[in-house]
Amino acid sequence: MFTIKGKTGEWELVIGLETHIEVLSKSKLFSGASADYNPTVAPNTQVSMVDVAMPGMLPVLNEYCVEQAIRMGLGLNAEISRHSRFARKQYFYPDLPQGYQISQPPEVAPIVGRGHVEIIGDDGNPKRILIERAHLEQDAGKLKHDVHPTKSFADYNRTGVALLEIVTWLDTKNPENNSYISSPDEAEKYLREIREIARALGVSRANMEEGSMRADVNVSVRRVGETGFRTRTETKNMVSFKFIKSAIEYEARRQIEIYESGGNVSQDTMRYNQGDGTTSVMRSKEDALDYRYFPDPDLLPLNISDDMIERIRATLPELPAATRVRYITEYGLAEYDAARLTETADISHWFDTAVGGDKKRAKAVANWMISELFAHPENWDVENKKSGTVNEMRIITPSDLAELVDMIAANDINGKQAKEIFIKMLDGEIGTPREIAKRYGMQQITDTSAIEAAVDAVIAANAPQVEQYRTGKVGLLGFFVGNVMKATHGQANPAVVNEMLKKKLG
Ligand code: ADP
Ligand code: MG
Repeated sequence: MFTIKGKTGEWELVIGLETHIEVLSKSKLFSGASADYNPTVAPNTQVSMVDVAMPGMLPVLNEYCVEQAIRMGLGLNAEISRHSRFARKQYFYPDLPQGYQISQPPEVAPIVGRGHVEIIGDDGNPKRILIERAHLEQDAGKLKHDVHPTKSFADYNRTGVALLEIVTWLDTKNPENNSYISSPDEAEKYLREIREIARALGVSRANMEEGSMRADVNVSVRRVGETGFRTRTETKNMVSFKFIKSAIEYEARRQIEIYESGGNVSQDTMRYNQGDGTTSVMRSKEDALDYRYFPDPDLLPLNISDDMIERIRATLPELPAATRVRYITEYGLAEYDAARLTETADISHWFDTAVGGDKKRAKAVANWMISELFAHPENWDVENKKSGTVNEMRIITPSDLAELVDMIAANDINGKQAKEIFIKMLDGEIGTPREIAKRYGMQQITDTSAIEAAVDAVIAANAPQVEQYRTGKVGLLGFFVGNVMKATHGQANPAVVNEMLKKKLG
């Protein structure tokens, strides 16, 4: 369990995340304007009369956005509400021309209800994080304060684009139920899982850097062993994993210090200061806004049929959690390896391509990917900013690795030679592993008579060590293996060498 040591004891963290993902769709949630608000589009060119709340304009619900929300809900293993509503959340800010945001507060049955996602918890075991709800709402526009010395400008291209807000659930009635996020690392894993699910489903690009995924971070602390939860704070609008983790940690330490010096944490809304990694109060509970929610009279209640849900369910691709199970049960991979290989859809696709359905290959491919490929991050295009999903190995292809692994399995080369070939490929050497092996005369000697000659020579030349080995210093085996390998220019099959030495020395 992740804990923080205070002056008077150990504290644990309780974290709740409200994650906003921008829904991928051609048009906005309630208007026909394009939902592509990317920065290359000229300001205020993708704005309809509805988006800027011209008098008399009526919103029309975009059915595709509803389908996307259902798709994500199914990906979150959640209940889909057969009846839900939209309500107005009233507040004044210049990026919100309507004067209210159309949203789905908890009281009006959000489109997605209780669900869960699975992450690997800090203890290395799978952990369920409960979801309370996910609801559709409108995004706001963007204000630009850096264009003119005395004026601010508003760009309404993003106004009205559909957002899906996914809220984790803290089961306050059962505080012993630990199905919530309890460390900065778990927060990151949860967000990555949400991101991968959204991407696998085509629901969102879910890219923090471009703002298509953002999170509000709720944090409270309690003493280890304490039951019940304490007051939380909420840090708004976080857009990087690194900042989220740092904000959680800072906020937890700040709260611990308050409690330990006899104070009480108040339920404040915080802002995170990127410069120094601190949080500060944005507004206190007393200034909390009263949004005066009420059902939007311009929008009918939303009824979703079983048919619609089943039709969408039938189109779902395999999700990361199912992929993990497949790797564990079909390929016999360890839990940890399965988790690493499903971190992104591209990684698991790479793995699946290399394995090519050949079960015998799977473990070796997994080992090579995790211990070798991942160790060279310069070759992974990890966060391609443009697509948000491309995650390709640039130099070594899946078929290269498959061939390498097959060559080892067939005893054509040994592990050490494979590593050499691998490094040559990383360095840009042209050709397949087989071609490279041939180019450098690498082959494995499995012919036992050739190995036997080398083994006999090494035994004959090292009489004192042979004596020591026979009187119990069996650790010397490695010394003999090393010498035989040297004598065969690294080309002998180490397994055969081992076997033969043991027999002859034994
Ligand atoms: P609000 O509408 O005030 O944002 P929500 O009910 O939407 O409140 O909850 C926001 C998030 O805060 C949820 O993810 C919830 O699990 C989390 N949360 C609630 N209470 C606590 C607490 N004591 N400590 C940490 N997180 C909490
Ligand atoms: Mg909230």
